[in-house]
Amino acid sequence: MVLAELGGSITRALHKMNNTTVIDEKALTDCLNEINRALLQSDVRFELIRDMQINIKNIVNLEQLAAGHNKRKIIQQAVFDELCRMLNPGKPSFVPKREKTSVVMFVGLQGSGKTTTCTKYAHCYQKKGWKPALVCADTFRAGAFDQLKQNATKAKIPFYGSYMESDPVKIAVEGVERFKEEDHDLIIVDTSGRHKQEASLFEEMRQLSEATKPDLVIFVMDSSIGQAAFNQAQAFKQIVAVGAVIITKMDGHAKGGGSLSAVAATKSPVIFIGTGEHMDQFEVFEVQPFVSRLLGMGDLSGLIDKIHGVVPMDQQADLVQKLSKGNFTLRIMYEQFQNALKMGPMGELVSMIPGFSSELIPQGHENESSAKLKHYMTMMDSMTNEELDSSNPKLINESRMMRIARGSGRLVREVLELMEVYKRIAKEFSKISRCRNPQDMVKSFP
Ligand code: GDP
Repeated sequence: MVLAELGGSITRALHKMNNTTVIDEKALTDCLNEINRALLQSDVRFELIRDMQINIKNIVNLEQLAAGHNKRKIIQQAVFDELCRMLNPGKPSFVPKREKTSVVMFVGLQGSGKTTTCTKYAHCYQKKGWKPALVCADTFRAGAFDQLKQNATKAKIPFYGSYMESDPVKIAVEGVERFKEEDHDLIIVDTSGRHKQEASLFEEMRQLSEATKPDLVIFVMDSSIGQAAFNQAQAFKQIVAVGAVIITKMDGHAKGGGSLSAVAATKSPVIFIGTGEHMDQFEVFEVQPFVSRLLGMGDLSGLIDKIHGVVPMDQQADLVQKLSKGNFTLRIMYEQFQNALKMGPMGELVSMIPGFSSELIPQGHENESSAKLKHYMTMMDSMTNEELDSSNPKLINESRMMRIARGSGRLVREVLELMEVYKRIAKEFSKISRCRNPQDMVKSFP
């Protein structure tokens, strides 16, 4: 995801400030200009960037800050908060609840990933025990029904559509009625997209919305849309009550910033992101962890979420418990790496491990990062139980390092690097121990 480059640029701008002796107006302006350039290059809308800069300058009043204040920290926090604010217009207009059948309508341009995303969304709820169903109201694109049928069959989700009927409103109403009668709790309506914003598409969308009265309209947007994102999103919002956004293809090489501008245009939050073509390549989107990851600060809640997805149930409580004690040993790190290798894709996962910034493992080098993890694990295989179970890195002194290097066939320099990584990750993980209930950090939906 090229957004990682944006994160890298912002982090570099902030790091540069760390090397400046005096933090004055000039240092702050230089840093903000560099951040602005990075945001502009990523296709974030100029007006949003300008507002962000004004807000940061208002928050960070250097003249009023007494000596002794950690100005760098205050600036970094302001940048973090402003990025979060830019991405966070509040809650979605509606969150499906199990007590009552919810109808969710998907809208977006053709090719944005709408049909794929409908099934991913349904599958996601299905995994949590819901009874979703899919309605294909796309009669414009030949093959749309077949595609939805194929995806739905694979995911074992009931579907409704027609090869004969050309009126999408009729199909949608019939489908919604049928699934309501069958007591489905989540009915998802896929609508047709066109190549660009066309009056006929919007009219059809309006009619579908009036006929099916969706509880939530989700706007699906391809992350590669660039600067056009704002206007496109706004055009959809003017016709139907968009209440949430899903951004697709975040795994690609798109700059991504444009799609973030869509959030501002629809004043609706991003609720999920698509990170690949497969059904499970779909993530709940949450602003703060996302910005943390973007800035290479790690995403503890995402990581713990992943732990819940992959670590066997009977080991989860134990692992979270260990982490909560703050005793982050080399053995826990070893187990984390083992899970990481199981989970993949590496780029996404490694960026979730706090302390593993995008600079350490640049985008496009995921295979290298996977090899690196394996090397680290080989070195840890040469450690004694005492070394693995200690949370005191000083235990591994020079002679032990030489022994570990010899035993694993790696260089002493690499063992040193492993210990640096361990210290960095342990420091981040110790933050969990300060969280009263680490389970609170696990963000589940809905
Ligand atoms: P629609 O015309 O909006 O319904 O779009 P489709 O669902 O047919 O998707 C268009 C193409 O994008 C298909 O080839 C999908 O497999 C692909 N696609 C959808 N979501 C993602 C994603 O998150 N990542 C990637 N790499 N491809 C995606």
